[in-house]
Amino acid sequence: MNNSAINVDQLNSALNSLRVLRSSVSHVFETLSNGLRADHGEDGKDKFLLELQELLNNVNINLRDLEQTVNGLPIPTAPFNLGTTSFLSHETTQDRQALYTQLVNSYKWTDKIHEYSSFAHTLLSQNSLKRSYINSGSTKRRGKLQSNHNVAPLQVDNVINNIDRSYSDMKITISRPFASNAVVQINLSHVLKAVVAFKGLLMEWVMVKGYGESLDLWSESRHFVFRKVTENAHAAMLHFYSPTLPELAVRSFMTWLHSYVNLFSEPCKRCSCHLHHTSLLPPAWRDFRTLEPFHDECKQ
Ligand SMILES: [Zn+2]
Repeated sequence: MNNSAINVDQLNSALNSLRVLRSSVSHVFETLSNGLRADHGEDGKDKFLLELQELLNNVNINLRDLEQTVNGLPIPTAPFNLGTTSFLSHETTQDRQALYTQLVNSYKWTDKIHEYSSFAHTLLSQNSLKRSYINSGSTKRRGKLQSNHNVAPLQVDNVINNIDRSYSDMKITISRPFASNAVVQINLSHVLKAVVAFKGLLMEWVMVKGYGESLDLWSESRHFVFRKVTENAHAAMLHFYSPTLPELAVRSFMTWLHSYVNLFSEPCKRCSCHLHHTSLLPPAWRDFRTLEPFHDECKQ
């Protein structure tokens, strides 16, 4: 015990001289980086060199001191005893040992969640199916947001009747078999019929059938081409959906649906054929922007 106390004193003085040495070295560099100062006067260069030499002498002296004190230290015969701290890694309580594995597992989980959520974010921002308010993003618009699915029937009627009036070859009739929500039947020339179920101003379901077929919400057309158009209409319904401009969404969808008036008369824009050479179907896809007809296989 007594022996180790002496050791501590020696160690202290060794550390002290190390500190002094470091301080004098940093003093040298400080002086060097400052360069010539005003108080060096006219013939500053010589004075500066003298000052530097003195500082370097100091370093030399301090280094010698350090060497002496270090030499005086006894060489340790065995590794230092760290006392009870070495038992830290030997935790004996079972439930505390289990904590470690749990910790590692939860770390892995958060890591995975982070990874997956960043993938999901990239994918979702590419395919913006904006059927919720969450994605509508910009805070400046948030104040004006109104509910799309809780709109007065009169307002819905106005929107749909306005659209009806703007097409001479597309007849839209409204019925309300399910309480206040509108179910809209569309007769497009002699080409097709469609039924659209609304919830407020939000389009929820579309079913497209041939001109001669009976129309209801759930049974599919017996013709493959109208089943294809139904499928594409669902895509359009999602594409045009806008949480902030519900009227525009309905109008855009109706404009898009109206472009099917030439379903059997207009050839595909890409292959210029009426019937596709393998599927033998007319162009059942309409571009969302240009409304040009394409075969499903040709739309890219
Ligand atoms: Zn084609």
